[in-house]
Amino acid sequence: MKPFKPNLAKWGSPVLLGIPLDHNSSFLRGAAQAPPLIREAFHSDHWNKTSETRVDLGARGIFEDAGDLAVMESPDAFTRIEDAIGKIVEKGKRPVSLGGDHSITGPILRAIGKRIPAITLVHFDAHPDLYADYEGNPHSHACPFARIMEEQLVHRLVQIGVRTLNAHQNEQAEKYGVKIFEITNLPHPTHLNLAGPIYISFDMDALDPAFAPGVSHWEPGGLTTREAISYIHALPGPIIGADLVEFNPVHDSTGLTATVAAKILKELLGKMIAA
Ligand code: MN
Ligand code: MN
Repeated sequence: MKPFKPNLAKWGSPVLLGIPLDHNSSFLRGAAQAPPLIREAFHSDHWNKTSETRVDLGARGIFEDAGDLAVMESPDAFTRIEDAIGKIVEKGKRPVSLGGDHSITGPILRAIGKRIPAITLVHFDAHPDLYADYEGNPHSHACPFARIMEEQLVHRLVQIGVRTLNAHQNEQAEKYGVKIFEITNLPHPTHLNLAGPIYISFDMDALDPAFAPGVSHWEPGGLTTREAISYIHALPGPIIGADLVEFNPVHDSTGLTATVAAKILKELLGKMIAA
């Protein structure tokens, strides 16, 4: 690989990339169907495209959409994800991936972490996803953050909204120095004390299933949509990339979760561009 020097003073446009992979889901498939449904909700005429940070995401060229990666149920899926994300980063642009289950965050960070130093990874989730392996699968969607920390792809991992911290994952968190803000002990959004460059990984089950029922693992007692957006807005820049994962249309009978996912996407993009 040729050495890549990121221009830390100037960040390019966000580039959407759909990653329709769900074969690393431990309980329920379906997340692979998410990317086109999030796009459809995003582009719906029921709302305008201005984020709360007052960025008009309908403006021509303000972000790009690279479409979806093809045939993810194949042994080389992780390599292709890493290659696709690496190409976006080497153009000086910022990948915003639509999952897919959470296993995709491993190869995404492998691409970014090799190229951009000292990343703070901000991870919204009901689950720490720190299992050493899960049911014999080290690439399970329950494991990506163990892989990321083992490979030292980021400077720091901060998790927000966790409410399923068992003994094994607590040990893993201590081993890797992960900072976990459990749902029972959430700081004010302006008191997170984080520094950029920041990458955001947003698992839709961080939200309470009352707001976002379309996820594989219902874990009641979660963040409100408002709280999640307040955290996103309060993060310092630059935000060098993001992923939005674990929306599962199979559990989304009303279509509400697609719209909530699209709202989070709007605020991620609006924050990235405004920051
Ligand atoms: Mn997750
Ligand atoms: Mn989760």
